[in-house]
Amino acid sequence: MQLKRYIEAYIPVNICNMKCSYCYLDKNISKVVCGLSHDPEEIGRALSFKRLGGPALINLCAAGETTLLQELPLLMEELLAEGHVLSVVTNGIYTAFFQKIMDMREEYRKRIFFKFSLHYFELLRTGTMETFFENINNMKKAGCSFTIELTPDDKYLEVKEEIKKICMEKAGAICHVTIPRDDTTLEHKLLSRYSLKELVEQWGEFDSSLLAFKSEIWGKRRCEFCYAGDWFFAVDLLTGRMTQCYEGKELCHNIYENINKKLPFRAVGTKCPSTHCFNGHAFLTLGIIPEIPAPAYAELRDRVCADGSSWLTEEMRDTLSSKLKNANKEYGVLKKTFLK
Ligand code: SF4
Repeated sequence: MQLKRYIEAYIPVNICNMKCSYCYLDKNISKVVCGLSHDPEEIGRALSFKRLGGPALINLCAAGETTLLQELPLLMEELLAEGHVLSVVTNGIYTAFFQKIMDMREEYRKRIFFKFSLHYFELLRTGTMETFFENINNMKKAGCSFTIELTPDDKYLEVKEEIKKICMEKAGAICHVTIPRDDTTLEHKLLSRYSLKELVEQWGEFDSSLLAFKSEIWGKRRCEFCYAGDWFFAVDLLTGRMTQCYEGKELCHNIYENINKKLPFRAVGTKCPSTHCFNGHAFLTLGIIPEIPAPAYAELRDRVCADGSSWLTEEMRDTLSSKLKNANKEYGVLKKTFLK
């Protein structure tokens, strides 16, 4: 499937069933959030196939554990019914949620991609290592796609071999590795006592294309013309607020208002508000800046297992290999010049 848009949808959950030391989540929560403000059906209409102009890849991610949102399976069904493809970020241990996925129609399950975050020490501490891999394998059997990603906290250096071994044994391949970042800093600095070069060397044996691409773009301010705000946008599903990128301008619109009206897409252009494109492993690989050569997003997520199977299904691999410029028109010189 060729994707028309990529959406970062913030799921209103700020609680978690794990306590990772390197977590982005604010440890001093003053108010627990774990619930939607609008019906799943209304959210489906607000992000309809028609309104988005075609099939979108919608990434569902919370500040806490995404799957703790009780309405999540219903919300997913509404978005899947619209024809979209979903990516769900999870720590993989809330089994009741994955059981609900198994009850979904096959046609829906094959349009779901899970990003399982491997929090090794927390899985050991909570005795949920088996549960984690069982849920992954159940999702694979159900026809969903997945990836396993490790945040390479410095403390994991001493258990690298254990992590590789358990991933090989239970998931058929070694996990991918990301770059740990400190979201309490404006620059989203590297969260490690090592330099980026050292970190890449330390984790090189994991042979992760995700780490390779992220380290290539890490820390570089983007000055090229970026289509975030048009081909991609972020939305807070609690408030309905749309922004061009994580830190981009508000798009003067709330997705829950005038639900039958078109959404006002407007690209960031050359005014990227961030110090670096820290989630460019998705944005740039999907082609949000068409002139930047990048591998397909699928390449950064997939692994081929020892038995010859893959983490991504063939259909999902094809979808996550989309380049957004193939479904969208690039702006002309005039439009680029007069962009506010
Ligand atoms: S370059 Fe990256 S961070 Fe900047 S606006 Fe585009 S997508 Fe967002």
